[in-house]
Amino acid sequence: MRLCRGDTLVVASHNGGKLREIADLLAPFGFLVRGAAELGLAEPDEAGTTFEDNAILKARAAADTSRLIALADDSGLSVTALDGAPGIYSARWAGADRDFAAAMARVEREMAGASDRLAKFVCVLALAFPSGETETFRGEVEGRLVFPPRGTKGFGYDPIFVADGMRETFGEIDPALKHAISHRARAFEKLLGSGLFE
Ligand code: IMP
Repeated sequence: MRLCRGDTLVVASHNGGKLREIADLLAPFGFLVRGAAELGLAEPDEAGTTFEDNAILKARAAADTSRLIALADDSGLSVTALDGAPGIYSARWAGADRDFAAAMARVEREMAGASDRLAKFVCVLALAFPSGETETFRGEVEGRLVFPPRGTKGFGYDPIFVADGMRETFGEIDPALKHAISHRARAFEKLLGSGLFE
């Protein structure tokens, strides 16, 4: 399956920030990008056990309902000393009121002073075609955690994450720099290099 200029592409997310970021990354390809909320698509339960499962689940639900090509993203923070947690539960650790100060405090508490501070951000993109075919693309950025949180520029767990080779957190660096090296940018590089785009 291939994607051609002028095709309509549904971004299977109800998160306005994610939608904007993905629309920007897709801008050079000339697709007609539509959001899931705009098309009245329901948000499926993220019932999978891996980033891949959840990204596929979201993209397939949108493609099957809309009969359009759909793109979904599932992402999160994976901490080595916590056996990969919060992982696919990264959003859920922040609770219904999306309290990331509390989520970062929980990460610190659960690490209980562990000397291993290694962590990575993971992003999996799933592209689903109405024909039933689905492809996934994974991007990761490795680094370490610092406490207390620093910086107000990013979102989510950015204030405690320092990427390899850097001294400042993702909450302190220029967003353009983050977007050049982030897990999402790396997943997009794989998607754009996949040969699926004409
Ligand atoms: P999703 O919408 O289920 O994929 O949730 C992803 C969660 O992972 C969000 O709640 C974010 O807090 C966290 N996350 C994903 N990407 C980033 C990032 O680039 N910076 C900080 N947190 C992130």
